[in-house]
Amino acid sequence: MIQEKSSPRSRAIYIDIDDVLSHTIAALDDLLHQHHDRRVPYESIKHFDLGISFDLKADELRTFLALAHEPQTIKAISPVEGAVAGLEHWSKAGYEVRLVTGRPPTTEAATRHWLETHGVPHASLAFVDKYGRAGGWTEDIPTLALSDIAKLDFCLAVEDSLEVAAFIAENLDIDVALVDHPWNRATEHLSSHVRDRLIRCHSWPEIIERFPQP
Ligand SMILES: [Mg+2]
Repeated sequence: MIQEKSSPRSRAIYIDIDDVLSHTIAALDDLLHQHHDRRVPYESIKHFDLGISFDLKADELRTFLALAHEPQTIKAISPVEGAVAGLEHWSKAGYEVRLVTGRPPTTEAATRHWLETHGVPHASLAFVDKYGRAGGWTEDIPTLALSDIAKLDFCLAVEDSLEVAAFIAENLDIDVALVDHPWNRATEHLSSHVRDRLIRCHSWPEIIERFPQP
């Protein structure tokens, strides 16, 4: 006999922004070209850490990330095809779209402006220090630590950071639609339990087809 859960299943969906809803890496490559006069082909970006993938020293990376978080940089980022339609699908089906970004909270105004410009439906926007970065984190705007995420209730997550996706899969025990990118393909080090929870998806139509009602 199947036992029913005592509490109803959460209808909140965790959605990352950069390289899930937006083509952030393309904008960052433009920024690299602008400030360092070189580009890195998309397929060569095998590390989530831009210091490694863009070959930037610690001080160069600090300056680069500060530029990346400037309002004009954020404004120039284009949305991912099908993302808005996907979120609309879930919203109409009664799900709560909760945006959870690793951008520093100093980008809040620019981020909200971008979401509005592109008509991204969402119930909330949270800033989470996913990567333990120091710059741009201010006490003025409330933020969460990655460990706080483990206490929240979601029925699905959509992420591109392998580290964060694995953390969610392990601690929340939910499926994570892992948006395929060269920097999240090396999964051999993960446990089979976590790997089973990571569902690699290549597009928004594929995410919705796989999880029409998560
Ligand atoms: Mg991301």
